[in-house]
Amino acid sequence: MSAPIVRGLSELRAMVSGWKQSGETVGVVPTMGALHQGHLSLVRAAKDGCDRVIVTIFINPKQFNNPADYDNYPRTEEEDARKLAPFGVDAVYVPDGPTMYPDGFATNVSVGGLTDVLCGAHRPGHFDGVATVVSKLFLQTQADRAYFGEKDFQQLQVVTRLAADLDIPIKVVGCPTIREEDGLAMSSRNLLLSDRARVWAPALNTAMEEVAEGLLAGGDMATLRAKAVAQIERAGFTEVEYLDLRACDTLELLKTPSRPARLLAAAWLAGVRLIDNIAVG
Ligand code: AMP
Repeated sequence: MSAPIVRGLSELRAMVSGWKQSGETVGVVPTMGALHQGHLSLVRAAKDGCDRVIVTIFINPKQFNNPADYDNYPRTEEEDARKLAPFGVDAVYVPDGPTMYPDGFATNVSVGGLTDVLCGAHRPGHFDGVATVVSKLFLQTQADRAYFGEKDFQQLQVVTRLAADLDIPIKVVGCPTIREEDGLAMSSRNLLLSDRARVWAPALNTAMEEVAEGLLAGGDMATLRAKAVAQIERAGFTEVEYLDLRACDTLELLKTPSRPARLLAAAWLAGVRLIDNIAVG
């Protein structure tokens, strides 16, 4: 039996209030669909941690700074519902545009500081779009726990911050990045890669692993970075937007992994923007 699809907010609210009245805990997994094993690992974690699980699928126009990226984003609703069927999720919430952003919608949620760097610096407005839609999904679902992937590490920090700042009573749970066998982080955008580009794509993660090893061996970040960028570009990428070592909590730039640190990168391959991050140490 496939998971029940819920499109309306009042229907969702009625379902959730029934669960809450019975004292059940509710988990939410926000997604933009085109589901893969990375998303499904979050669903699994939510099923383990909560009595009831809602998966949301909404391709949020507000978080796309490039209209072509929004238009090209994979849309695979039927296949998504089929993939979710074995997990026994309680609702797949698929709101339409006007449900999320009715006429006259005028509110913007903006998280300062954390969003000034990395993807925030390269994708103007992206994190305002994320913060706004995630705030709405938290309030609409009234979930007790929300599951996000470390794949989008900066996003994970931003949503954790906004839940705390806005006193939304939800626990944000971060889950590890799921990868293909060759190391490529799973992503809905991988579907947009040609067969040739798909072969080149793991070079990003390979180079990052080498930088992490070099740092742990006492290497200099600037030297390691220059070598990695050259290696990534030689593999077929056209541009490395950033390849930074940053503090896990504040995303402050680091020269050495002197505190819990993360290596984060964004790079373009055949017109597709890929991001990845790994822990250092
Ligand atoms: P998206 O549909 O790309 O907006 O992603 C929805 C959620 O799935 C986000 O919390 C992502 O961080 C998470 N996610 C995406 N790819 C992966 C992956 N490879 N491993 C773990 N989580 C992921």
